[in-house]
Amino acid sequence: MADDCNDVARQIYSYLDGELTVWKRRAIARHLDDCPPCAKGFTFEVELRQVIVSRCRDEVPESLRRRVAEAIGDSGGEAAGHGGDEVR
Ligand SMILES: [Zn+2]
Repeated sequence: MADDCNDVARQIYSYLDGELTVWKRRAIARHLDDCPPCAKGFTFEVELRQVIVSRCRDEVPESLRRRVAEAIGDSGGEAAGHGGDEVR
């Protein structure tokens, strides 16, 4: 039943996004019930998504914020007290 498996693999993202009709979703859910390899892949996709989502929420802010702040132009601290060595 490789055709079914390919079908499921192809539609798994739509399934996760809730873009499929009820019947399609049922068919996929049923196939996942009967087909351990596909069910395994499905679980992997779901976990992967959760990791991505949680990373976007938690891990980005602190370190990335600083870098962004530096990149935007936070260059007033050290140069201010230097006196001014201008090279012509
Ligand atoms: Zn399968």
